[in-house]
Amino acid sequence: MLIPDWLARRAALHPHRPALIYAGTTYTFAELDRWAGAVASHLRQLVTPGARVALLSRNRPGFVAIVHAAPRTAITLVPLNTRLTAAELAFQIQDSDPALLIIEHDLLPVAREAAGNRPLIVLEELTAATTAPTAPAPPIDLDAMHTIIYTSGTTGRPKGAILTAGNHWWNAIGSMLNLGLHEDDRWLAVLPLFHVGGLSILLRGAIYGIPVILHERFDPALVRHDLDAQRITIVSLVAVMLQRLLAIDPSPFPPHLRCVLLGGGPAPQTLLEQCATRGIPVTQTYGMSEAASQAATLSPAESLIRLGSAGKPLLPVELSIVTPSGQPAAPGEVGEICLRGPNISPGYLGLPPRSPTDWFHTGDLGYLDQEGYLYVVDRRSDLIIAGGENIYPAEIEAILLSHPAIAEAGVVGLPDPEWGQRPVAAIVAQQPTTAEELIAYCRSRLAGYKVPRTIVFLHELPRTAAGKLRRHELRAILLAQMSGNDH
Ligand code: ATP
Ligand code: MG
Repeated sequence: MLIPDWLARRAALHPHRPALIYAGTTYTFAELDRWAGAVASHLRQLVTPGARVALLSRNRPGFVAIVHAAPRTAITLVPLNTRLTAAELAFQIQDSDPALLIIEHDLLPVAREAAGNRPLIVLEELTAATTAPTAPAPPIDLDAMHTIIYTSGTTGRPKGAILTAGNHWWNAIGSMLNLGLHEDDRWLAVLPLFHVGGLSILLRGAIYGIPVILHERFDPALVRHDLDAQRITIVSLVAVMLQRLLAIDPSPFPPHLRCVLLGGGPAPQTLLEQCATRGIPVTQTYGMSEAASQAATLSPAESLIRLGSAGKPLLPVELSIVTPSGQPAAPGEVGEICLRGPNISPGYLGLPPRSPTDWFHTGDLGYLDQEGYLYVVDRRSDLIIAGGENIYPAEIEAILLSHPAIAEAGVVGLPDPEWGQRPVAAIVAQQPTTAEELIAYCRSRLAGYKVPRTIVFLHELPRTAAGKLRRHELRAILLAQMSGNDH
């Protein structure tokens, strides 16, 4: 299905309204539209329609121009994570096989190391294009591949999730049907644009016709400043960012900030409670690359009364909890979260496509309460089964993290001759403490079988570039360390 180019439409509707604000520079919808058109003309000289083009850049206005130029050139954009090593990038470049790489100037050394002798253009050169486009922007084909977003690689190698223009469109519509759209909305983008959480803000900005305030990276003081100075109404954050934001300034958030969209991973209960006390309108969301960002979200009005829930599925999304035997779970019963809807990716690069009528199995465990609110429990691959009892590492980690001496905690299941598996915790301490003290702390708060038998002190925990705990890697580290101790 074809629809008019969203940015071109917005430029025609209200050319002088701000579309993008970055470091004191404002680009109106007309300016951004012209820029995207010029970049598209330049790109057409370099690649043929249907080609894949990789993009390695931090959050920059040029990134935004390229995102809107891509459908006009009929290319599929493959945003790459700027925090990866050359070897990790090399895998994604080989996997996605781009005809061209667009590289921010400062990242040329790592890109050259990762890309071998593939054709490459510097972002600053590509986006310096100013030639006014001669033809109007072509319509957007909702069925066309728009982007390939690599998943975070939390459970293994990142997978290239294919997202069509329609996936993004329906996500933007679903998000708006839940959060609403206000005349004065201004969305702050501090998440990296190469992940779906950041990218989706750019698309929403164009589809809704609202300004996106873009930060190069998360700087809590600048965010705090811009919440006021830029009259931000919505900001998307991950938990660790919100924690840092609360820590730097105890003063209330401005009243025009109507939604702190919190996603990307589990939100610690203590953080949610702290926000509730301070009157911060946190809206928890459950999403993933494969859903073009949000799949379920708590409506803003419920954010303070349903603490810990990720809400209900967005209007276009079906959500089902499936038990290991393949049956729909009863309320309160934990099973795998499965999704279906027009925002769900048709498949991964290099793997067989999923039919739109098939459910997408997320690999996440969760349950719906009596009223249909979603609670995300943990990843299926991280489930620990000890003596037939299910243990969710995230539950134990949340308890450990509420102890003042603990900065970071990771729990995995290690083989146990008697119980099959037993939970073992690795922690990074921020104050002196002992394993005995922490085990006693857990014992007073958790059922006996969940209490970690061993606590290992580490200097750091293995994390993805997005800061998510890589439990399978932690498991390997702990296994190696413990087998070393045996000798
Ligand atoms: P990979 O698929 O490569 O292992 P990943 O799943 O971390 O990596 P993303 O698509 O970036 O890659 O992240 C989506 C995942 O983040 C979800 O599948 C879920 O496990 C987790 N997540 C997102 N939102 C929440 C939430 N509200 N509560 C708990 N977990 C969440
Ligand atoms: Mg995943």
